[in-house]
Amino acid sequence: MRNKLLLFWQISAFIVLAVSILSAQSVTSKERKTTKVTEGVYVITHRDAPDTFPQGNTIVIIGDKDVLVVDSCLLPSSAKEDIAQIKQWTDKPVKYLVNTHWHFDHNNGNGTYAAAFPNLTIIAHAETQRMIENYNPMAISNYPTRRERFKKMLESGKDNDGVPLSDALRKDLEVSLVGLDEVVAEFQNIKLTPINISFTEDLNLNLGNREVQIKFLGRGNTAGDTIVYLPKEKIASVGDLMVHPVPYFFGGFPLELPATLQKVGLLNLQSIIPGHGEILHNNNYLNQIIALVTEVNSFIKKETTGNPNLKIEDAAKIARQKIDVPAWRKKFAGDNQENGDYFEETFDGLIKSAFKQAVIR
Ligand SMILES: [Zn+2]
Repeated sequence: MRNKLLLFWQISAFIVLAVSILSAQSVTSKERKTTKVTEGVYVITHRDAPDTFPQGNTIVIIGDKDVLVVDSCLLPSSAKEDIAQIKQWTDKPVKYLVNTHWHFDHNNGNGTYAAAFPNLTIIAHAETQRMIENYNPMAISNYPTRRERFKKMLESGKDNDGVPLSDALRKDLEVSLVGLDEVVAEFQNIKLTPINISFTEDLNLNLGNREVQIKFLGRGNTAGDTIVYLPKEKIASVGDLMVHPVPYFFGGFPLELPATLQKVGLLNLQSIIPGHGEILHNNNYLNQIIALVTEVNSFIKKETTGNPNLKIEDAAKIARQKIDVPAWRKKFAGDNQENGDYFEETFDGLIKSAFKQAVIR
Protein backbone atom coordinates (compact mmCIF):
# COMPACT_ATOMS: atom_id res chain seq x y z
CA MET A 1 0.00 0.00 0.00
CA ARG A 2 2.80 2.39 0.80
CA ASN A 3 4.25 2.14 -2.68
CA LYS A 4 0.90 3.07 -4.10
CA LEU A 5 0.54 5.88 -1.63
CA LEU A 6 3.93 7.32 -2.45
CA LEU A 7 3.49 6.85 -6.15
CA PHE A 8 0.08 8.39 -5.98
CA TRP A 9 1.39 11.60 -4.57
CA GLN A 10 3.63 11.87 -7.57
CA ILE A 11 0.80 11.19 -9.96
CA SER A 12 -1.36 13.72 -8.20
CA ALA A 13 0.89 16.60 -8.89
CA PHE A 14 1.52 16.80 -12.58
CA ILE A 15 1.35 19.57 -15.15
CA VAL A 16 3.11 22.02 -12.91
CA LEU A 17 3.20 24.78 -15.50
CA ALA A 18 -0.58 24.93 -15.61
CA VAL A 19 -0.88 25.24 -11.89
CA SER A 20 -0.91 29.02 -11.51
CA ILE A 21 -4.43 29.25 -12.89
CA LEU A 22 -5.65 26.29 -10.89
CA SER A 23 -4.33 26.94 -7.42
CA ALA A 24 -7.59 27.56 -5.57
CA GLN A 25 -9.36 24.41 -6.67
CA SER A 26 -6.53 22.14 -7.69
CA VAL A 27 -5.04 18.94 -6.39
CA THR A 28 -1.68 20.72 -6.45
CA SER A 29 -0.78 23.70 -4.29
CA LYS A 30 1.79 26.27 -5.36
CA GLU A 31 1.00 28.83 -2.68
CA ARG A 32 1.14 29.04 1.07
CA LYS A 33 -2.04 30.65 2.36
CA THR A 34 -3.45 31.53 5.76
CA THR A 35 -7.18 31.87 6.39
CA LYS A 36 -8.93 33.17 9.50
CA VAL A 37 -11.97 30.92 10.02
CA THR A 38 -13.21 32.82 13.07
CA GLU A 39 -11.61 34.80 15.90
CA GLY A 40 -8.64 32.72 17.09
CA VAL A 41 -9.02 29.89 14.54
CA TYR A 42 -6.73 29.84 11.52
CA VAL A 43 -5.93 27.44 8.69
CA ILE A 44 -2.54 27.31 6.98
CA THR A 45 -2.57 25.73 3.53
CA HIS A 46 0.94 24.87 2.37
CA ARG A 47 2.61 24.87 -0.98
CA ASP A 48 3.68 21.43 -2.17
CA ALA A 49 7.25 20.34 -1.43
CA PRO A 50 9.88 21.01 -4.15
CA ASP A 51 9.49 17.41 -5.37
CA THR A 52 5.70 18.01 -5.66
CA PHE A 53 4.83 15.97 -2.54
CA PRO A 54 1.73 17.62 -0.99
CA GLN A 55 1.68 18.93 2.57
CA GLY A 56 -1.32 18.60 4.88
CA ASN A 57 -3.19 21.63 6.17
CA THR A 58 -2.31 22.99 9.62
CA ILE A 59 -5.04 24.37 11.88
CA VAL A 60 -4.32 26.76 14.75
CA ILE A 61 -6.86 27.10 17.60
CA ILE A 62 -6.19 29.81 20.19
CA GLY A 63 -7.99 29.89 23.55
CA ASP A 64 -7.71 32.35 26.45
CA LYS A 65 -5.16 30.05 28.12
CA ASP A 66 -3.75 27.60 25.62
CA VAL A 67 -3.03 27.07 21.93
CA LEU A 68 -3.73 23.83 20.05
CA VAL A 69 -2.38 23.00 16.59
CA VAL A 70 -3.75 20.28 14.32
CA ASP A 71 -1.11 18.60 12.11
CA SER A 72 2.48 19.70 11.64
CA CYS A 73 2.81 19.21 7.83
CA LEU A 74 5.53 17.51 5.80
CA LEU A 75 8.61 19.72 5.78
CA PRO A 76 10.36 20.98 8.92
CA SER A 77 11.07 24.26 7.07
CA SER A 78 7.32 24.77 6.50
CA ALA A 79 6.57 23.90 10.14
CA LYS A 80 9.13 26.56 11.14
CA GLU A 81 7.42 29.09 8.91
CA ASP A 82 4.08 28.15 10.50
CA ILE A 83 5.49 28.56 14.02
CA ALA A 84 6.75 32.04 13.15
CA GLN A 85 3.25 32.85 11.87
CA ILE A 86 1.58 31.44 15.01
CA LYS A 87 3.83 33.68 17.13
CA GLN A 88 2.40 36.66 15.28
CA TRP A 89 -1.15 35.54 16.02
CA THR A 90 -0.55 34.86 19.74
CA ASP A 91 2.07 35.26 22.43
CA LYS A 92 0.91 32.04 24.12
CA PRO A 93 2.98 28.91 23.46
CA VAL A 94 1.50 25.95 21.60
CA LYS A 95 0.47 23.51 24.34
CA TYR A 96 -1.15 20.73 22.28
CA LEU A 97 -0.41 19.28 18.86
CA VAL A 98 -2.93 16.78 17.47
CA ASN A 99 -2.05 14.45 14.56
CA THR A 100 -5.15 13.57 12.51
CA HIS A 101 -3.59 10.37 11.08
CA TRP A 102 -0.26 8.68 10.51
CA HIS A 103 0.61 9.77 6.94
CA PHE A 104 3.80 11.77 7.28
CA ASP A 105 2.62 14.77 5.27
CA HIS A 106 0.66 15.56 8.46
CA ASN A 107 3.22 14.90 11.19
CA ASN A 108 6.84 15.17 10.00
CA GLY A 109 6.94 18.61 11.67
CA ASN A 110 6.18 17.21 15.16
CA GLY A 111 9.83 17.52 16.21
CA THR A 112 10.00 21.11 14.98
CA TYR A 113 7.06 22.02 17.24
CA ALA A 114 8.52 20.07 20.18
CA ALA A 115 11.81 21.98 19.80
CA ALA A 116 10.03 25.35 19.64
CA PHE A 117 7.61 24.61 22.52
CA PRO A 118 9.30 22.50 25.24
CA ASN A 119 6.06 21.91 27.17
CA LEU A 120 4.24 20.60 24.11
CA THR A 121 1.93 17.57 24.42
CA ILE A 122 1.42 15.59 21.22
CA ILE A 123 -1.94 13.80 20.98
CA ALA A 124 -3.02 11.05 18.56
CA HIS A 125 -5.42 8.14 18.29
CA ALA A 126 -3.85 4.91 19.56
CA GLU A 127 -3.80 3.45 16.02
CA THR A 128 -2.21 6.60 14.66
CA GLN A 129 0.42 6.46 17.39
CA ARG A 130 1.13 2.83 16.54
CA MET A 131 1.51 3.56 12.82
CA ILE A 132 3.65 6.68 13.33
CA GLU A 133 6.00 4.75 15.63
CA ASN A 134 6.12 1.52 13.62
CA TYR A 135 5.97 2.80 10.12
CA ASN A 136 7.10 6.36 9.64
CA PRO A 137 10.79 5.94 10.61
CA MET A 138 11.17 3.45 7.75
CA ALA A 139 9.09 5.53 5.34
CA ILE A 140 11.26 8.57 6.10
CA SER A 141 14.57 6.72 5.77
CA ASN A 142 13.39 5.08 2.52
CA TYR A 143 12.41 8.40 0.98
CA PRO A 144 15.69 8.85 -0.97
CA THR A 145 15.03 5.53 -2.77
CA ARG A 146 12.39 7.41 -4.75
CA ARG A 147 15.25 8.71 -6.88
CA GLU A 148 16.16 5.23 -8.16
CA ARG A 149 12.52 4.16 -8.50
CA PHE A 150 11.56 7.23 -10.49
CA LYS A 151 14.66 7.01 -12.68
CA LYS A 152 13.88 3.36 -13.38
CA MET A 153 10.31 4.24 -14.33
CA LEU A 154 11.51 6.99 -16.67
CA GLU A 155 14.09 4.73 -18.26
CA SER A 156 11.72 1.79 -18.72
CA GLY A 157 8.77 4.01 -19.66
CA LYS A 158 6.57 1.95 -17.32
CA ASP A 159 5.24 2.40 -13.80
CA ASN A 160 5.63 -0.08 -10.91
CA ASP A 161 2.70 -2.14 -12.22
CA GLY A 162 4.21 -2.34 -15.72
CA VAL A 163 1.71 0.16 -17.14
CA PRO A 164 3.19 2.58 -19.74
CA LEU A 165 3.74 6.08 -18.36
CA SER A 166 1.40 8.80 -19.58
CA ASP A 167 3.03 12.02 -20.78
CA ALA A 168 1.66 13.75 -17.70
CA LEU A 169 3.17 11.21 -15.31
CA ARG A 170 6.48 11.33 -17.17
CA LYS A 171 6.61 15.10 -16.76
CA ASP A 172 5.67 14.82 -13.13
CA LEU A 173 8.41 12.30 -12.43
CA GLU A 174 10.92 14.60 -14.11
CA VAL A 175 9.82 17.57 -12.00
CA SER A 176 9.85 15.43 -8.86
CA LEU A 177 13.43 14.34 -9.51
CA VAL A 178 14.57 17.94 -9.87
CA GLY A 179 13.20 18.84 -6.41
CA LEU A 180 14.02 15.60 -4.67
CA ASP A 181 17.49 16.48 -3.30
CA GLU A 182 16.09 19.48 -1.46
CA VAL A 183 13.40 17.36 0.18
CA VAL A 184 15.81 14.55 1.07
CA ALA A 185 18.06 17.14 2.74
CA GLU A 186 15.06 18.41 4.74
CA PHE A 187 14.11 14.90 5.76
CA GLN A 188 17.49 14.60 7.46
CA ASN A 189 16.31 17.33 9.84
CA ILE A 190 13.21 15.42 10.93
CA LYS A 191 13.31 14.62 14.63
CA LEU A 192 11.12 11.63 15.44
CA THR A 193 9.20 12.72 18.49
CA PRO A 194 7.01 10.44 20.60
CA ILE A 195 3.25 10.91 20.90
CA ASN A 196 2.60 11.85 24.54
CA ILE A 197 -1.11 11.05 24.88
CA SER A 198 -3.20 8.60 22.89
CA PHE A 199 -6.98 8.14 22.92
CA THR A 200 -9.40 5.69 21.36
CA GLU A 201 -12.82 7.41 21.40
CA ASP A 202 -12.68 10.99 22.49
CA LEU A 203 -10.70 13.51 24.45
CA ASN A 204 -12.07 16.89 25.52
CA LEU A 205 -9.93 19.93 26.21
CA ASN A 206 -10.69 23.45 27.27
CA LEU A 207 -8.21 25.97 25.94
CA GLY A 208 -9.81 28.75 28.02
CA ASN A 209 -13.18 29.90 26.79
CA ARG A 210 -12.77 27.49 23.88
CA GLU A 211 -13.92 23.89 24.08
CA VAL A 212 -12.22 21.40 21.79
CA GLN A 213 -13.46 17.83 21.27
CA ILE A 214 -10.99 15.37 19.77
CA LYS A 215 -13.00 12.50 18.33
CA PHE A 216 -12.72 9.17 16.59
CA LEU A 217 -15.95 8.66 14.62
CA GLY A 218 -14.89 5.52 12.77
CA ARG A 219 -12.35 4.35 10.22
CA GLY A 220 -12.14 5.66 6.68
CA ASN A 221 -8.84 6.92 5.31
CA THR A 222 -6.87 5.18 8.10
CA ALA A 223 -7.59 3.17 11.26
CA GLY A 224 -7.15 6.22 13.48
CA ASP A 225 -8.84 9.11 11.64
CA THR A 226 -9.26 11.95 14.07
CA ILE A 227 -11.69 14.86 14.04
CA VAL A 228 -10.91 18.04 15.98
CA TYR A 229 -14.26 19.66 16.66
CA LEU A 230 -15.18 23.04 18.11
CA PRO A 231 -18.79 22.48 19.25
CA LYS A 232 -19.61 26.13 19.92
CA GLU A 233 -18.15 27.47 16.69
CA LYS A 234 -19.33 24.46 14.61
CA ILE A 235 -15.91 24.06 13.01
CA ALA A 236 -14.08 20.76 12.52
CA SER A 237 -10.80 19.62 11.08
CA VAL A 238 -11.33 16.19 9.54
CA GLY A 239 -7.88 15.18 8.26
CA ASP A 240 -7.76 13.18 5.05
CA LEU A 241 -11.22 11.68 5.59
CA MET A 242 -11.87 14.55 3.20
CA VAL A 243 -9.39 15.86 0.64
CA HIS A 244 -10.60 18.66 -1.63
CA PRO A 245 -11.27 19.02 -4.58
CA VAL A 246 -10.71 15.31 -5.33
CA PRO A 247 -10.74 12.70 -2.53
CA TYR A 248 -7.85 10.46 -1.54
CA PHE A 249 -8.90 6.82 -1.92
CA PHE A 250 -5.64 4.87 -1.89
CA GLY A 251 -5.86 2.27 0.84
CA GLY A 252 -7.90 2.76 3.95
CA PHE A 253 -11.33 1.41 4.78
CA PRO A 254 -13.80 2.50 2.10
CA LEU A 255 -16.49 0.09 3.30
CA GLU A 256 -16.63 2.09 6.53
CA LEU A 257 -15.98 5.56 5.13
CA PRO A 258 -19.61 6.51 4.33
CA ALA A 259 -20.76 5.78 7.90
CA THR A 260 -17.86 7.77 9.33
CA LEU A 261 -18.55 10.72 7.04
CA GLN A 262 -22.25 10.58 7.89
CA LYS A 263 -21.31 11.13 11.52
CA VAL A 264 -19.26 14.16 10.46
CA GLY A 265 -22.30 15.42 8.52
CA LEU A 266 -24.50 15.12 11.63
CA LEU A 267 -22.28 17.66 13.40
CA ASN A 268 -23.95 20.33 11.19
CA LEU A 269 -20.68 22.15 10.69
CA GLN A 270 -20.34 25.70 9.48
CA SER A 271 -16.76 25.06 8.42
CA ILE A 272 -15.19 21.73 7.47
CA ILE A 273 -11.41 21.85 7.19
CA PRO A 274 -10.17 19.02 4.97
CA GLY A 275 -6.70 17.48 5.26
CA HIS A 276 -5.76 19.16 1.97
CA GLY A 277 -7.52 21.88 0.02
CA GLU A 278 -10.05 24.59 0.67
CA ILE A 279 -12.33 25.09 3.69
CA LEU A 280 -15.91 23.95 2.98
CA HIS A 281 -19.00 25.63 4.38
CA ASN A 282 -21.72 23.06 3.80
CA ASN A 283 -22.13 19.28 3.49
CA ASN A 284 -22.40 19.16 -0.33
CA TYR A 285 -18.90 17.87 -0.95
CA LEU A 286 -19.11 15.47 1.99
CA ASN A 287 -22.38 14.07 0.62
CA GLN A 288 -20.86 13.76 -2.84
CA ILE A 289 -18.03 11.62 -1.43
CA ILE A 290 -20.53 9.49 0.52
CA ALA A 291 -22.61 8.93 -2.64
CA LEU A 292 -19.61 7.85 -4.76
CA VAL A 293 -18.17 5.54 -2.13
CA THR A 294 -21.59 4.03 -1.38
CA GLU A 295 -22.10 3.25 -5.07
CA VAL A 296 -18.66 1.66 -5.34
CA ASN A 297 -19.16 -0.33 -2.12
CA SER A 298 -22.45 -1.82 -3.30
CA PHE A 299 -20.86 -2.67 -6.67
CA ILE A 300 -17.96 -4.41 -4.93
CA LYS A 301 -20.24 -6.28 -2.51
CA LYS A 302 -22.43 -7.47 -5.40
CA GLU A 303 -19.51 -8.56 -7.59
CA THR A 304 -17.57 -10.32 -4.84
CA THR A 305 -20.51 -12.12 -3.20
CA GLY A 306 -20.50 -15.77 -4.27
CA ASN A 307 -17.62 -15.10 -6.69
CA PRO A 308 -14.44 -16.13 -4.87
CA ASN A 309 -12.43 -16.27 -8.11
CA LEU A 310 -12.95 -12.63 -9.05
CA LYS A 311 -9.58 -10.91 -9.41
CA ILE A 312 -8.91 -7.34 -8.38
CA GLU A 313 -7.93 -6.38 -11.97
CA ASP A 314 -11.21 -7.80 -13.27
CA ALA A 315 -13.20 -5.92 -10.63
CA ALA A 316 -11.49 -2.71 -11.78
CA LYS A 317 -12.44 -3.40 -15.41
CA ILE A 318 -16.06 -4.31 -14.64
CA ALA A 319 -16.38 -1.22 -12.44
CA ARG A 320 -15.71 0.99 -15.44
CA GLN A 321 -18.48 -0.76 -17.38
CA LYS A 322 -21.05 -0.60 -14.59
CA ILE A 323 -20.32 2.71 -12.89
CA ASP A 324 -20.65 6.01 -14.75
CA VAL A 325 -17.07 7.12 -14.07
CA PRO A 326 -17.11 10.09 -16.52
CA ALA A 327 -20.13 11.52 -14.68
CA TRP A 328 -18.40 11.18 -11.31
CA ARG A 329 -15.22 12.66 -12.75
CA LYS A 330 -17.21 15.64 -13.97
CA LYS A 331 -18.79 16.11 -10.53
CA PHE A 332 -15.43 16.21 -8.78
CA ALA A 333 -13.11 17.66 -11.40
CA GLY A 334 -15.35 19.60 -13.78
CA ASP A 335 -13.38 20.22 -16.97
CA ASN A 336 -10.06 20.57 -15.15
CA GLN A 337 -7.70 18.14 -16.85
CA GLU A 338 -5.27 17.82 -13.96
CA ASN A 339 -7.97 17.16 -11.37
CA GLY A 340 -9.71 14.82 -13.82
CA ASP A 341 -6.56 12.75 -14.37
CA TYR A 342 -6.14 12.53 -10.64
CA PHE A 343 -9.77 11.49 -10.24
CA GLU A 344 -9.17 8.52 -12.56
CA GLU A 345 -6.28 7.41 -10.34
CA THR A 346 -8.16 7.83 -7.10
CA PHE A 347 -11.21 6.03 -8.54
CA ASP A 348 -9.03 3.00 -9.39
CA GLY A 349 -7.57 3.28 -5.87
CA LEU A 350 -11.10 3.21 -4.44
CA ILE A 351 -12.09 0.11 -6.41
CA LYS A 352 -8.94 -1.69 -5.31
CA SER A 353 -9.12 -0.72 -1.67
CA ALA A 354 -12.86 -1.55 -1.46
CA PHE A 355 -12.15 -4.93 -3.11
CA LYS A 356 -9.33 -5.63 -0.68
CA GLN A 357 -11.45 -4.73 2.28
CA ALA A 358 -14.37 -6.85 1.05
CA VAL A 359 -12.31 -9.89 0.14
CA ILE A 360 -9.02 -9.95 1.97
CA ARG A 361 -9.37 -8.17 5.26
ZN1 LIG B 1 -2.49 14.05 3.49
